[in-house]
Parts: sequence; structure tokens; C-alpha cells
Amino acid sequence: MISYLPGMKRIYMDHSATTPVAPEVLEAMLPYFSERFGNASSLHSFGLEAKEALEASREKVAALLGAKPEEIIFTSGGTESDNLALKGIAYRNQAKGKHILTTSIEHPAVLETCRKLQKEGFEVTYLPVTGEGLVDPAVLESAIRPDTILISVMHANNEVGTIQPLEEIGRLAAERDIYFHTDAVQSVGKISTDVNTLGVDLLSLSAHKLYGPKGTGALYIRKGTRLESIIQGGGHERALRSGTENIAGIVGLGRAADLAGEIMAAEARRLTGLRDRLAKLVLEKVKDAWINGSMAKRLPGNLNFAFKYVEGESLLLFLDSRGIAVSTGSACSSHKLEPSHVLLALGLKPEDCHGSLRITMGRSNTEGDADYVAEGIAAAVERFRSISALGR
Ligand SMILES: *Cc1c(COP(=O)(O)O)cnc(C)c1O
Repeated sequence: MISYLPGMKRIYMDHSATTPVAPEVLEAMLPYFSERFGNASSLHSFGLEAKEALEASREKVAALLGAKPEEIIFTSGGTESDNLALKGIAYRNQAKGKHILTTSIEHPAVLETCRKLQKEGFEVTYLPVTGEGLVDPAVLESAIRPDTILISVMHANNEVGTIQPLEEIGRLAAERDIYFHTDAVQSVGKISTDVNTLGVDLLSLSAHKLYGPKGTGALYIRKGTRLESIIQGGGHERALRSGTENIAGIVGLGRAADLAGEIMAAEARRLTGLRDRLAKLVLEKVKDAWINGSMAKRLPGNLNFAFKYVEGESLLLFLDSRGIAVSTGSACSSHKLEPSHVLLALGLKPEDCHGSLRITMGRSNTEGDADYVAEGIAAAVERFRSISALGR
């Protein structure tokens, strides 16, 4: 196997899998591992210091979402936030109905939670998406039932970067008094995620997709939303999420939210430019290739290519040998051999799913990176097509 050589220039274009902790974020976190180590529940000065940091972070996360601080609950990440939102609403509101509406392109943190709820007697409808990877609000509306208690539609997809029409769905949900949750792990800090504009009652986010630390996240819960906790214990986080707060992680999330808010508009413009540049270069150089998902309703740094007659895994390893880090499908499913459930939902043939490559750019990426990666991709596709039985 070809492997990465020490000292080689490395280009990271897998920011949807995770991001590095920003230097400002790390700096803000460090004191909370050492001198400010207190437990936020303690009544002495050490505890108060931790409690203050906790509440300051809550304000920062709330500000990024246009929410009130008391509407933010800290969790261990996006997966836990999704679990709490779905199970919490389902368990607490089951007397009203047991039907949940979601989409076929959600992250496993939502899909697997729905499967578990189905085993417990809830009914789940998985809505299809268009060939562009978008949910049609009219299709969603027609799937609403009198016993629907929750609609969960992700804001931006982690594989193809498509941005769903949440405002329209939010209005449909509000008219019918149905709770509306969104997994916004991929969109928070990249595009506007104002909870009132989007019309959501619950929103999941994760620090490590936002230049913060792994293992920390938050759930926005609109005031008045009734849900049950899924972790029992000492009653932390308004008894919705017991367990001593991860103060250092939460401070990191707060700083990351602040930073993202400051640079979001400029960074979105810059990454859209890089994205479009890389797309154009690759599609000029490589035949029988296209981009999966809508280009108009798409995250700034996301590209998802389909290359006919090659395996994405081979491309990934070839690029890795040149110091370029990208992914096939999502990081969670790239160790499986099944084609991506997202690309299948977009209507791709299974063999074309296998030739897909996800590129997600972020703060460190430059125009020079885009040019180097475009060349690397063209070389990789050419090489594997020339030796592939599928090639022509
Ligand atoms: C990464 C991701 C998650 C999971 O977040 P963790 O903090 O890694 O648990 C959930 N949803 C989406 C869309 C993601 O991209």
C-alpha cells in the first residue's frame, strides 16, 4: 500500500468529518484543564468560576443561533443532541401521537435513533429527496398525519452539502403544532442558522465540526418545548442532561461559536469561490464526471464528485499518497462497503455511488490547494481508469 511520507506537504479537505481546534479556541480552553478546574455545581469560588464560564459559553452559543441562553443545553456532541431531541420529544409526547417524519438522507445519528424508536412502537416516515438532494415541502406536507408529533429534517447534508428549505417546513410544522427539529451540525458557523428565521423548535450542533473540540455539542430547545431527558442523574442542564459539565469543552464551543459568527460571511464567500474553482477545474480535466446534489442550495465548501468507471476508495488512497485528505461518502460509512444511503436517495446507481468523492474545504484551504487537488484528482482518475476493467 502507498503510504504518506513524513515531511510531505499535507492538504486537509475533509472538514465535514472534523475540523482542527482553532488556536483561539485552544487558548480559551487551556485554563479550564488546570487552574480553573472547578465543578460548576460547587458553591465555592472554584465552582463559581466554572459556572461563570459555563453560562458565558451558553450566551455565545445562543447568540450564534439568535436564541435565548436558557434555550441551550450542552451535550457530548451532535449524536447525543440528535438522540435527546428525537427520543426526548417522542417519549414525552406519545400520548398525542406516535408518528415521526424525517428524510432518507439524515445522518445515522438521526436515522438509527428513528430505527430504535420504531422498535419501541413509534412509526417513522422517511421522505424521499429530489435528484438534487432536496426535500420537497409539498411532499412533506402530504405525509403529515393527525398523529405526527415530530418533523426532523437536517439543515445541510454531511455528504452532498445540500441545504434544505427549513423556513417552508417550519411554517408547515408551526401551523399544525408539530415539533420541528433540525440537525444543523454541518451548517452551524458556515451559513446563517437563526432559529427564528428557520422556524425550528430544536436544533443540534457539534463543536468539532466548527473548529472546536470533539466530544462537546449543544441542543437548542425552544422555550415551552416539552421533552423528556434520556440521561438520568444529578439534574444538570435543567435536568435534561445530567452529568458534570465538560467545562473546558464547553468553553471551547463558546469561543468557536463567537469566532464562527465573526468570520462567517467573509469565509462563506471565500469558500464558495474555492469550491467553484475546484469544481470547474476538475470537470474541465475529467470526462464522465459530475457533481452530486444541487449547486445552488449547497454549503460553501462542499463538493461531491461522481467519477464513472473508478472506485472512490482507490482515488482516496492515491490522493492520500500525495498528502491530500478527502473522503468517500461520509467518514461514518466509509468503512462499510454498502453504497452511500444519501447518494442512493439522490437516485444514483450503486456503481456510480462507489465512484464518488467528497471534498470539504475549510479555513486552512487556499487557491493553491484547490489547483493542486484538481491536478491530483485528474491524475488519480486517469490512472485508475487506464488500469480498470470498467474503464474504456
Ligand atoms: C458529525 C455529524 C453528526 C455527529 O456529531 P458528533 O459530534 O460527531 O457526534 C451528526 N449529524 C451530522 C449531520 C454530522 O455531520
